[in-house]
Amino acid sequence: MKTTPSVLVVEDEAAIAELIVINLRHHGFCPIWAEDGVAAQREIDAAVPDLILLDWMLPGETGLTLAKRWRTQQARTKNVPLIMLTARGGESDRVSGLDAGADDYVVKPFSTKELLARIRAVFRRRTPESHGEKLFIGDLNLDPETYRVSYKTIPVKLGPTEFKLLHYLMGHAECVHSRGRLLDKVWGDHVYIDERTVDVHIKRLRESLGRAGGAAMIETVRGAGYRLTATPEGTMVPTDYQAQRRTHTRPPLVY
Ligand code: CA
Repeated sequence: MKTTPSVLVVEDEAAIAELIVINLRHHGFCPIWAEDGVAAQREIDAAVPDLILLDWMLPGETGLTLAKRWRTQQARTKNVPLIMLTARGGESDRVSGLDAGADDYVVKPFSTKELLARIRAVFRRRTPESHGEKLFIGDLNLDPETYRVSYKTIPVKLGPTEFKLLHYLMGHAECVHSRGRLLDKVWGDHVYIDERTVDVHIKRLRESLGRAGGAAMIETVRGAGYRLTATPEGTMVPTDYQAQRRTHTRPPLVY
């Protein structure tokens, strides 16, 4: 299930962009080059990249403006790892880059080796995802190789979207995931889908798990999203009231 991570390289200087693109491709990434904010936005609208490398000084809108927008105004890009590239290395510039939501900051001139190390580090921090491994959370088992799911050894039948959704939730169990994040992670590019779509598929997933008795493992965290837990409070499907109470005793971490 391992896929090549895509990296959007937003850089106006062709020579630098080319160097980065060649190196990324050589090291197993799928680079996409955009020379300014307009081109970058077009790429993002077409497909959400796995990581953005963003130059600070660009014609038109600066990298800093773009970083702020992608981080705070666009649900699609809010959680995409972002590394700022720039010749500016002063303390205050570093701080504003990180304040704008960048995960890291690489100062030009940089070695491609350093850049690749930073990219890998950001990926490690942001996506501790397992590929193809069997997952066990409480009584729930999922095997991505055979597409089989069972709860207390009872087979659970799921549609492809519910399977993907459960796979993601089990890979990131006990964390609260917002609807926007689930849309990006499970539905991928289909970002123009309404967030209520997530609710519909969560409902179906609960119904399928419910037949085997495991519906309570998927909790609604009011105002935040959904969480898969090995230790649901009751054996019944949590009502909004129960979920609401839970948020007071266990503050959710939103990823
Ligand atoms: Ca530049």
